[in-house]
Amino acid sequence: TVRSAFPVISPVTGKQLRVYEGMTWDEVEQAIEQAHEAFLAWRRVSIGDRARLMLRLAALLRERADHYARLMAEEMGKPIRDGRAEVQKCAWVCTYYAEQAADFLAPMPVATDARKSYVAFEPLGVILAIMPWNFPFWQVFRFAAPSLMAGNAAVLKHASNVPGCALALEALFREAGFPEHLFRTLLIRSDQVEQVIVHPRIRAVTLTGSTPAGRAVAAQAGAALKKTVLELGGSDPYLILEDADVAQAAAICAKSRLINSGQSCIAAKRFIVVEAVREPFEQLLVEHMRAARVGDPMDEGTEVGPLARHDLRDALHRQVQESLQRGARLLLGGVIPEGPGAYYPPTVLTDVPKGAPAYEEELFGPVAAVIPVRDEAEAIQVANDTVFGLGAAVFTRDEARGERIAREALEAGCCFVNDFVRSDPRLPFGGVKESGYGRELSVFGIREFVNIKTVFVG
Ligand code: NAP
Repeated sequence: TVRSAFPVISPVTGKQLRVYEGMTWDEVEQAIEQAHEAFLAWRRVSIGDRARLMLRLAALLRERADHYARLMAEEMGKPIRDGRAEVQKCAWVCTYYAEQAADFLAPMPVATDARKSYVAFEPLGVILAIMPWNFPFWQVFRFAAPSLMAGNAAVLKHASNVPGCALALEALFREAGFPEHLFRTLLIRSDQVEQVIVHPRIRAVTLTGSTPAGRAVAAQAGAALKKTVLELGGSDPYLILEDADVAQAAAICAKSRLINSGQSCIAAKRFIVVEAVREPFEQLLVEHMRAARVGDPMDEGTEVGPLARHDLRDALHRQVQESLQRGARLLLGGVIPEGPGAYYPPTVLTDVPKGAPAYEEELFGPVAAVIPVRDEAEAIQVANDTVFGLGAAVFTRDEARGERIAREALEAGCCFVNDFVRSDPRLPFGGVKESGYGRELSVFGIREFVNIKTVFVG
């Protein structure tokens, strides 16, 4: 019966914009039951009919891209141009699964001593999705498009600072014509999540967020014997070898570091540079980082907005200061600007030593950490000297060398050569080590939340 309040604090002004009222446990339970009822009917709907709704959803997203981009800018400070691109990408993943799901879920015949035996992919039921604020739309669609196409229902516990986005998402599914309760938003705090996880109607849990949140949720789900998919933090290494096109590498590295104002799990975070090219690389990286236009997320020209919350900005600054105390050198930025916004300037640290936060931890903001190394072998050793394993990239003019390092040497789920790490509906996405487990997107993503069922006709 207790309701929590979900205030929206503008990251630009620090002022409270509005407050949403949270749900009581009775309301949460009702939503879960209703989602389960919706699932029972939805699982009987043909894939073709599911696909038609998914395409309607894609069309609505494209139509309303500007509106949703403004909502994200307001709640978590995403530059408006990035917000529009994010919504377009959501439409893409909806279209992709609308077109591919029938193939991905087609029963697979297997020859055995049965008269007939095959593998069928059946939905599981209501899936709980716990999502972060950094891509308030994309993270949700990356899970929801395949899971709903597979015949599941979903309840969403979104990050507390994007309640407006969370409610807009629920409305969007309804407006696209999906059954009333198939996709529900639960406005609850994170300490109320365990009760949802253990609820018997909840069949599995997916979480995108930090490693500590993943650890907590996986432990609770483990105790309740429910499957989890975890997309957690990262500290992606970008290796710049002595034979790299340094100008190209520096431009791509800066761009990747500044994705979403530096708040992306797969942003480039550690720049591991072979000594021979360290000087020109540092110089160019600083130039690109300095040139990025920082400003109000509502301005069309803004490339880097404020961070999503003031406390996150302050935590980032502490990581920078401690890195400097441990011996890193500051090449750019590093000073909190005057004014009410949660802004942090594009910052470059170099000679970042082992033990410094910029070496060991995830820096979730526009701060680049340069780590010089002697050669390829040391570059690989430093790249893997982390608890994370989400993405990685290597820059070299020798494509075979790059491919060998990407495929065999780097401990990460997504390894790119001469390009920055990004997700694509056609390719699996996910991590190893403390970056999580399971995969989203592609055929692998849609098979995470299904009962891979053996059917044997004797
Ligand atoms: P976060 O603090 O971990 O929050 C993520 C979600 O988990 C929010 O909905 C949060 O709710 C909830 N949560 C936090 N602690 C919880 C707990 N103990 N039990 C249940 N739920 C809990 O992460 P964030 O700050 O929003 O996002 C940034 C992090 O996400 C970064 O580490 C980033 O690398 C990672 N990320 C990973 C991927 C990927 O694909 N691997 C993608 C994007 C982001 P509240 O908001 O109510 O606390």
